[in-house]
Amino acid sequence: MSNLSAQSSSQSRFDSLQTIVARKPKTVESPKDEKGNLIKVSELYGSSVFSLKQMQQKLPSDIYKRLVQTTQAGKKLDQEVATVVAHAVKEWALEHGVTHFCHWFQPQTGSTAEKHDSFLTLDSNNNAIERFSGSQLIQSEPDASSFPSGGMRTTFEARGYTAWDPTSPIFISDSGTTKTLCIPSVFISYHGDALDEKTGLLRSNEVLSERACKLLHVIGDQDAKIVTATLGPEQEYFLIDRSQYALRPDLISTGRTLVGARPPKGQQLEDHYFGSIPARVLAFMADFEFELVKLGVPVKTRHNEVAPMQFETAPIFEEANVAIDHNQITMETIRRVARKHDFEALLHEKPFAGINGSGKHNNWSMSITSAGSELQGVNLLDPGKTPHQNLRFLLFLSATLKGVHKHAGLLRAGIASPGNDHRLGANEAPPAIISVFLGNMLDNMLNEIEKDTHKSLNYQEAVIKLGVSKLPTVMKDNTDRNRTSPFAFTGNKFEFRAVGASVSCAFPVTLVNCAVADGISEVTAMLEAKMKTAKSKEEAIFDVIKEVIKETKAIRFEGNNYSDAWVTEAEKRGLPHLRTTPEALHEIISEKSKKLLTGLGVFSDEEVKSRFHIRIENYNKRLLIEGECLLMMVETQILPACYQYSTVLAEGIAASKAAGVNAPQTEVLAKLNQVIGAAQGELKKFERTLEAIKSLSNEEEAAKKIASELKPLMDALRVQCDLLENMVADNFWPLPKYREMLLLS
Ligand code: ADP
Ligand code: MG
Repeated sequence: MSNLSAQSSSQSRFDSLQTIVARKPKTVESPKDEKGNLIKVSELYGSSVFSLKQMQQKLPSDIYKRLVQTTQAGKKLDQEVATVVAHAVKEWALEHGVTHFCHWFQPQTGSTAEKHDSFLTLDSNNNAIERFSGSQLIQSEPDASSFPSGGMRTTFEARGYTAWDPTSPIFISDSGTTKTLCIPSVFISYHGDALDEKTGLLRSNEVLSERACKLLHVIGDQDAKIVTATLGPEQEYFLIDRSQYALRPDLISTGRTLVGARPPKGQQLEDHYFGSIPARVLAFMADFEFELVKLGVPVKTRHNEVAPMQFETAPIFEEANVAIDHNQITMETIRRVARKHDFEALLHEKPFAGINGSGKHNNWSMSITSAGSELQGVNLLDPGKTPHQNLRFLLFLSATLKGVHKHAGLLRAGIASPGNDHRLGANEAPPAIISVFLGNMLDNMLNEIEKDTHKSLNYQEAVIKLGVSKLPTVMKDNTDRNRTSPFAFTGNKFEFRAVGASVSCAFPVTLVNCAVADGISEVTAMLEAKMKTAKSKEEAIFDVIKEVIKETKAIRFEGNNYSDAWVTEAEKRGLPHLRTTPEALHEIISEKSKKLLTGLGVFSDEEVKSRFHIRIENYNKRLLIEGECLLMMVETQILPACYQYSTVLAEGIAASKAAGVNAPQTEVLAKLNQVIGAAQGELKKFERTLEAIKSLSNEEEAAKKIASELKPLMDALRVQCDLLENMVADNFWPLPKYREMLLLS
């Protein structure tokens, strides 16, 4: 009887292993045109996008011009233009076999939302026709009551609007069976409050542009009209086989494993990083990349990551708003296409304990995107060729340092999430302290400038002495990288590395934009004051840079961010160290942050508060789901497996005794029962605390208790479960093990 029950508990696990061993890579069709001829990826690029080029071809030229003008000015579209555009979009969509359209938006849930409507309408004679009007293009009214608003909407005014964001291209999403026209949109309440991730981002882009242009004008770059934040998000993810995913309730409901003993071979051998990509995975990658290319997402890089079964995809950078939409599309496409290849993609920050987690390095910079001169396209964080260009670079670099230094706590809050709590401060991710890495060469130069030993020199001599004039050649060779820094300068951009893999980049980037916009404003004010007395503009700029370098020294750190020494040092420097999500989130509603965000006009007071509340609520919900899930797994899977095995051992002992021989299993059984007892003890404490927290009505209090009480108890319970996994006979264990999930495919 015991044999039968042992079989039933682990049979599905063994079946899944057989399934995996028999899997073959799926064939992936190379892109072809309508006639079936092979085409290049560059020809496939953007074929499912109603791009500017499409618009130029399909729209009357005056309408096209007006559309582009409104887009660039960020103004509302007028009805006449909308009507013509809607017609052209509809015709294009119908040609591609599209049946439905939707406003595609980003409520603060981390993912995207859409409500589909068919083009099908009945005209006055009851004839079926396809229709898509200008107002349907511009605006829609989904039922907003089921999206988080953080207290901004009472139910009686639950209406929300989505409005077309013409700065991000319309695209066709193809599920394989049906095609939908997706119109990137913002999502706002009846009173105009931002209910989504995009509205704040667009506002922050605008204010960054305005402040950066002002500074450029002050230093003599009069032609700059628009400055755009640019973004290249590198996306990390894990893959596991679908058949194993199906057997892990924790992965299904929380995205991470809540239990699981460390495998004998993890990433110690470091043989996976940049190693050759397994054939099944490569087929999956090729497949999702073709899909992304069609959608105009410029995917560029693919490789293995540090952990087994961990991978990365990175695009060519784009303007932040489009890059963020594209990253959302990337995450959705990865998930969907993975299933086609019998994988499940795990985008969680820490799917497996003791093994590298997943982040999303946000490569960020600022570019002049509108100027009637050679300023067009200039990357403000790229050193140039002339002393003027290099001073400009150092000035914008200083402004960035200033912003990050002043708002380090808020930037930390922007990346706070339950998943990221497992990464930040753990061994493979930057700690929960924001600091900036500049690299040896730049760091030395700033130190020289700060020391001011060249005070006797005039500005031009100083520039030469300090190497400011030969920045670019030195920078090009600058290969030193500090992988431990959360905010690292990498030659011509900053890399905000602490962002979690599963989240939208919108909020973190909004906050970086705001912090830097503030830094730029302060630098501009300093410069304007200095210019009144300085001998020359250049002297004044140089003086400001010098001052900012001194003032922001605390935020710069070139050493190992993972070391304990840094934690102590950072505390000495007065840098905020916010270990948990609830702690960090309070930074959003600090007086300093509120002043920044409302002062720049990016969020109203209400919107700031709602962002805090939504995140606290989300933290609680996720952690309570984890708690419930762990409880269920321990009670219905793990302990039953242990009892079964202990029964078998007991039966064996009884049989041995009856036969009059030694029963060496006695020792094993005693030890097993002891750990089972310990697990039961932890389970009781855990369950009691979980119930107590569930009954709390104050969300902030609940969040605090979850972080300080529930999480340690979850960890303690897990320790016992993982001990049991290594004690119970393998053929009794119901859950796919780490070694199987990570080292198979
Ligand atoms: P590395 O991190 O090794 O320098 P890359 O140069 O390939 O790697 O860049 C990593 C990411 O940074 C890519 O997505 C790239 O497009 C992006 N990137 C490069 N330049 C910029 C920029 N000016 N602004 C934003 N992202 C950028
Ligand atoms: Mg990188």
